Amino acid sequence: MNIVIPTIQSDESQLRVQLWTAVVGWTLIVVLLLLWSLRNEDMEMLELARQEAVANFNKDQAFRIWGTTHGGVYVPVTKRTPPSEHLSHIPERDLITPSGRHLTLMNPAYMLRQMMDDYTDLYGVKGRITSLKPLNPNNAPDDWERVALEAFERGEKERFELTEINGHSYLRLIRPMITEEGCLKCHHKQGYEVGDVRGGVGISVPMDKYYVAASGQKKELMIGLSLIWLAGIGAIWVYGKHSRQRIHERKDYEGQIWHQANFDLLTGLSNRSLFLDRLDRALVFAKRQQYELALLFIDLDRFKDVNDTLGHAIGDLLLQEAARRLQTCVRDMDTVSRLGGDEFTVILPVISEGKSASKVAAQVLTELSKPFDLKGQEVHLSASVGITLFPQDGNDSGMLLQNADTAMYRAKADGRNTFRYFTWEMNREAEGRVSLEAALRRALKRNEFVLHYQPILNVRDGGLVGAEALIRWESADRGQMNPNEFISLAEESGLIVPIGDWVLQQAADDLARWDQAGLIIEKLSVNVSIVQFQLQGFTGKMMELLEKQPNLSSRLFLEITESVFLDEHREPGARLGMLREQGVGIAIDDFGTGYSSLSYLKRFPVDILKIDRSFIRDVTIDPEDAALCEAIIAMAHHLGLKVIAEGVETNQQWQFLRDRGCDYAQGFYLGRPMPQDAFTAFLNENLKRNSAVG
Ligand code: C2E
Ligand code: MG
Ligand code: MG
Repeated sequence: MNIVIPTIQSDESQLRVQLWTAVVGWTLIVVLLLLWSLRNEDMEMLELARQEAVANFNKDQAFRIWGTTHGGVYVPVTKRTPPSEHLSHIPERDLITPSGRHLTLMNPAYMLRQMMDDYTDLYGVKGRITSLKPLNPNNAPDDWERVALEAFERGEKERFELTEINGHSYLRLIRPMITEEGCLKCHHKQGYEVGDVRGGVGISVPMDKYYVAASGQKKELMIGLSLIWLAGIGAIWVYGKHSRQRIHERKDYEGQIWHQANFDLLTGLSNRSLFLDRLDRALVFAKRQQYELALLFIDLDRFKDVNDTLGHAIGDLLLQEAARRLQTCVRDMDTVSRLGGDEFTVILPVISEGKSASKVAAQVLTELSKPFDLKGQEVHLSASVGITLFPQDGNDSGMLLQNADTAMYRAKADGRNTFRYFTWEMNREAEGRVSLEAALRRALKRNEFVLHYQPILNVRDGGLVGAEALIRWESADRGQMNPNEFISLAEESGLIVPIGDWVLQQAADDLARWDQAGLIIEKLSVNVSIVQFQLQGFTGKMMELLEKQPNLSSRLFLEITESVFLDEHREPGARLGMLREQGVGIAIDDFGTGYSSLSYLKRFPVDILKIDRSFIRDVTIDPEDAALCEAIIAMAHHLGLKVIAEGVETNQQWQFLRDRGCDYAQGFYLGRPMPQDAFTAFLNENLKRNSAVG
């Protein structure tokens, strides 16, 4: 069976896309954040280096201004401070102190250069003065400086760059050197005036220590951001996990609902709605491919008895086991469904010819007639199967199902445990059943029912002991109808309840009339359907009747069938006990044809057994029937019960019963069922004969 279960793949893949988008998005954000932070870090590092360079520049500047303001400084002439050849034009370049020490003038540029050389050794920071018109050729600018100096002449105030010097990275900063008053002392020759850009002071700060510090910070930054990234990924993972769980929960729930909507909870088979869906699909396929399709409608026989006798739990087990067996009879492509109750269907979507449906039906019957072992209880069952074929029996699922149902009813009517193919003739009969039911309803309103009475005689002396009331339907449309033609339909439709009430009341009224006329009958037997007997209010109704007509007491006998005893759940014992208390006798009709155990005779208050006509018919020619009748009579007497033989048609049968000590008998030989007035005449006749004899 192909079951279409809604998939969760699409939802999961949608979630997967969402999660991946979140992961990629988050990673992108973190990477961008990292790049931004690293760039910031670099910029901060550069700014710090620039600050350092500026600080150095400012210091130099301060010093230079100081030196310039004072026109230079005289220092002793040493190896490191020889008289400057660039200052030779200054007359007082060299001085001799009164003590004879040689001093020479150091101009600010000279001092600064020496100091800058010292920084380099001390701090690694290099300082340098450069000019487009240098006095000292060492101060000539390099390319970068030249560009910067030219920019200063245009008004720029600062330039810096990262560069490499002797394999090490440096930040090089250069700011303009502006001509001041003091500068002219040495530089007036070059034509400078106060305020002119005379050159630039460059400071180179080594970057290595910044790089080291920055790389530490960057590492921390990367670790920090990695942790944040991981936390985000973790959160996405947790969200994904929860979402997946929610999808699964939701899908489980949807699956359950779907399953409940499409499958029978008890047997696990597809239910009516899924069955119809499958049948529709199979029909579409069969139409397109021009295949033949078969539908089997299976109904268990007497399942109700099992339910009533053994309880619903066992009934459920039986249905489960039946469902299992049905599945063994079909191919994978076939669909077995339970429509409800004890009704099952099988769709055979492709059959080579009608015969293969017979094969499956026969197998179904074989499987279901094998004994069921239900918690130690062995139960025997059978089934009735109706078969419809597409296209000949219907074009759509509704018609095929209805016709299969009709065919199943025919199988039941034909004795159960068999299958029948649908024919259109059956349909007309089924329609007939529907119209018969409507006619029965009308019959009640129109008072079309009458009672016939069949005398019951005492076998010992042939005297009249009573009568059995038998219903007839004198239909205006259909003529006289016998109970066999309408009782089962009345039972199925529930109409038996008002009909049965009418029968009891009518029989009671007739008895009262005969009583008044002095035509006394000892026993009045009335047939009661199991449907009637099992109804809640039945004993109440009987009590009412007996209260109104106390003359019925100990003369009214209810004829019930053995099936009543199968329904232990409805406590037949209690009902029968109550009836017995009211003086109502119980006769078991058609005794010997039921399936019940004999033990009920011991347990329940029963008065009379009516040996079924089928045992009496051949009692004089069939030794087995004779033995059975003898046995029933002996057993009944043993249990203190009376016996009525039904269907006595010959004198030989009558003699046989007399010889075997049977108590009472009824049959065409002794008197046919007759209308009320005819029976009144019969009673009068009987009375006359008796009084003549008396
Ligand atoms: P049953 O209760 O077993 O009634 C005996 C049936 O056997 C009657 O058929 C009667 O006419 C027939 N019969 C009697 N003697 C002979 C005989 O010698 N030979 C043959 N061949 N038949 C004989 P009927 O009246 O057609 O009733 C058939 C069944 O319908 C009854 O079987 C009973 O089960 C049911 N029935 C009749 N009246 C009522 C009723 O008022 N209520 C209910 N619930 N069922 C009824
Ligand atoms: Mg009867
Ligand atoms: Mg009978």
